[in-house]
Amino acid sequence: MTDTLLVVNAGSSSIKFQLFRLLPSGHRLELRSKGQLEGIGTHPRLSVRDAFGRTLIDESYEAAAVPDLTAAMHRLGDWLLERLGGRTPVAVGHRVVHGGPDYGEPVLIDDLVLDRLEHLVPLAPLHQPNNLAPIRAIRKRNPAVPQVACFDTAFHRGHPEVADRFAIPEAWYREGVRRYGFHGLSYEYIAHRLEEIDPALARGRVVACHLGSGASMCAIHAGRSLDSTMGFTAVDGLPMGTRTGQLDPGVVLYLVQAKGFDAKRIEHFLYHEGGLKGLSGISNDVRDLLASDAAGAKLALDYFVYRIAREAGALAAAMGGIDGLVFTAGIGEHSPVIRGRVLERLAWLGFVLDEAANQEHGPLITSAASRLKAYVIPTDEELMIAHHTLRLISGRSEALR
Ligand code: ADP
Repeated sequence: MTDTLLVVNAGSSSIKFQLFRLLPSGHRLELRSKGQLEGIGTHPRLSVRDAFGRTLIDESYEAAAVPDLTAAMHRLGDWLLERLGGRTPVAVGHRVVHGGPDYGEPVLIDDLVLDRLEHLVPLAPLHQPNNLAPIRAIRKRNPAVPQVACFDTAFHRGHPEVADRFAIPEAWYREGVRRYGFHGLSYEYIAHRLEEIDPALARGRVVACHLGSGASMCAIHAGRSLDSTMGFTAVDGLPMGTRTGQLDPGVVLYLVQAKGFDAKRIEHFLYHEGGLKGLSGISNDVRDLLASDAAGAKLALDYFVYRIAREAGALAAAMGGIDGLVFTAGIGEHSPVIRGRVLERLAWLGFVLDEAANQEHGPLITSAASRLKAYVIPTDEELMIAHHTLRLISGRSEALR
């Protein structure tokens, strides 16, 4: 065993990971290194940097040498063991997209838990199997290492029933057809950070905007999630890089009945042909759209900003008012243009932008004259997972640092 904690975030073709050191008091975590094994099954490449950005390894492999996530986890495990002098991490925390109706907290993984998470695969067929494969690979190789599952849905489990339901019969709800909400680890981190940055606002009504290649918004009242723009799956709500966001289900019926689309074709349509890419016909990347003069690029950005502002109004209504707003994730943290345009649309609520602070990425980007505050807060889902993992293996709960 070591003083090292591993955080794993596995997707369809990559495993991102971070190593944290438990500081001597055992209460605090310090980033040691972060990296990824990407291009699994196509152009596998393992790259890791230390906390100062220095390269520790940058190695490519034959596709056949790292054909799937299990092989990738083994490859990564070899590197880790070598790096840690043959000793295993003290625990591994995993990002798991779906905790279903029952898991409102992270959980220590055992056979029963793994079995229950397996049963949730139909709720997130594109993500859940990828999250579970590394867990199984580690259990097989190092059964004694404690592993913790941290869910993207957990932070939203306390939603009031009206936010948790669709207007369909009860039996479907009991079967699990609910508005789960996602990006929960990001929102939970934001809620904790806000307590440190602006404790008064953290006790109030906040609309948090996680604007990355996946995008959603969350109504957070006194640190607890009340509603989210994402629902049963991570395709609902805001338009995203390539996901449509909210769409009348009648459109899907039309595609089936008039165009003969089957389930696979519809999945591709919803997840890969929509959003900024679909609207613009140019790119899923906000940077490309901002740099383009094309009418499609302008429309895509107009639509994105419009929907963010519209959802902010809806989430404020869910909370009975709004005291502030937080921007986070790739676009939220790095694009003053998008932030400025959203706040301009929300001027009626009482936001007054501080243009210079916005260009500097805040953290506070509203002026002294603004009735409501808006912040830019970089998210850190991995640190959140590391803290949950530490808490579960040690029974301790510490402030996020
Ligand atoms: P993921 O959901 O993949 O973790 P991120 O949170 O890293 O995504 O966000 C990725 C997105 O952030 C990119 O698709 C890009 O559109 C956007 N982005 C990153 N940097 C900038 C920037 N400087 N200006 C505008 N958008 C940016």
